Amino acid sequence: MDMVSALPDDHAHDKCGVVGVYSPQRDAARLAFFGIFALQHRGQESAGIAASDGEQLRLHSDMGLVTQAFREEDLERLTGDIAIGHTRYSTTGSSHHSNVQPIRVTGPHGEMAIAHNGNLVNTLDLHQRLKEWGCEFQGTTDTEVIALLLANAPGQTWEERISYCMRTLQGAYSLTIATKDTLLGIHDPLAVRPLCLGKLDNGGWVLASESCALDHIGATFLRELEPGETIIIDSNGLRSFTWAGQRRKAQCIFEFIYFSRPDTILNNRLVYTARQAMGAQLAREHPVEGDVVIGIPDSATAAAVGYAQEAGIPYSEGLVKNRYVGRTFIQPSQHMRDMGVRMKFNPLPEVISGKRVIVVDDSIVRGTTTPHVVALLRRAGAKEVHLRVCAPPIRHPCYFGVDMATRQELVANGRTVAEIGELVKADSLGYLSIDGLLKAVEGEPTGYCTACFTGNYPMPVQLEMDKLALERS
Ligand code: SF4
Repeated sequence: MDMVSALPDDHAHDKCGVVGVYSPQRDAARLAFFGIFALQHRGQESAGIAASDGEQLRLHSDMGLVTQAFREEDLERLTGDIAIGHTRYSTTGSSHHSNVQPIRVTGPHGEMAIAHNGNLVNTLDLHQRLKEWGCEFQGTTDTEVIALLLANAPGQTWEERISYCMRTLQGAYSLTIATKDTLLGIHDPLAVRPLCLGKLDNGGWVLASESCALDHIGATFLRELEPGETIIIDSNGLRSFTWAGQRRKAQCIFEFIYFSRPDTILNNRLVYTARQAMGAQLAREHPVEGDVVIGIPDSATAAAVGYAQEAGIPYSEGLVKNRYVGRTFIQPSQHMRDMGVRMKFNPLPEVISGKRVIVVDDSIVRGTTTPHVVALLRRAGAKEVHLRVCAPPIRHPCYFGVDMATRQELVANGRTVAEIGELVKADSLGYLSIDGLLKAVEGEPTGYCTACFTGNYPMPVQLEMDKLALERS
């Protein structure tokens, strides 16, 4: 059993966080370390950094949290102006050391290290093609497929080789790449996973999955990368080119609901503000009489505040979260697992007792922990428990870099909202509508992927794909 999933958690998991640093006068690896430390919420299974001093591309990676994977001496060894970093949750390939990133490969144009957030949907076909080219694989991830394709792609320039890859790769990929003398950031033509650019005050540059990572290392946020855009940074400075092929934005809307940190800017909008707007919209769509609004910490806090403000009902903290649950590799005993959500949340009876409680959650995936949260609130004295969810029912799996669950595991698959309400034992249940969600996040409604709610994937997917497909093949 995966030790992390042994702890109570019913969330979708994003695959990874990536960082790239070009810092002419600073220790790039150290900045990359603090960058992936800020992105720890995007993956807790392994962490790694590759750095170049112009002569050598060095790599250190290990299982565990960023702070567990690196010691001071590891960072001291990673000298140079260029570094990329990665923090991983496995969506393709199982969780073991050969799948840890960054991945280092060598091709006709030299050595490179690559860090990837996302998921390909044509991995098996490309794996076969690369084997026919004579490529040897070390692990079982789609990231290695991307790395080997780019390292062996035809063309004399980065522009030619990356254009070849964009024509060939299908799926979600936000990449940071380091060679001995160049840092690259690549955004897939649908821009499914986030990737942004920032500037250091020493003339250097930073690429990161989320803008919150830039804030922590003192870089100024400039912008998000466009669909199909590549940024190339070397001693000549920064240049950008956009693939001439078919592009259209299909940004993952779940980044707003759950994955991204509230202090990140996505689509020119602070995630915290978007979550408050979702909560307010939820209050308009599903009003109910109540005495107090609480959120399931931490991801639903902003939405609960928005719900409370719109409904004119007091907001309060009602559940205290042990923030380190789910971030440990110590396996709980069977007895402790049976205690379920109690390991994660402790209710505040003074806030809840005798009250009609409206509890806001960000999403329900398998629905395994929700009935326990409702029961926990009732045991703490809640007179009524009304559950409000900041996302529509999830009825379809994700193929673009999120470990959602299989279709059969999704609680909303084949159930009506009323049936789910009975299952979770809430007095009432209300989900945010898809239109309400799109209104709350703003921007072009067609610019988002909403496939896990609607089943309308932004590109054809092999429906039988799962994260261990390559291992089985
Ligand atoms: Fe995001 Fe859902 Fe689309 Fe996956 S299917 S990219 S989780 S919106």
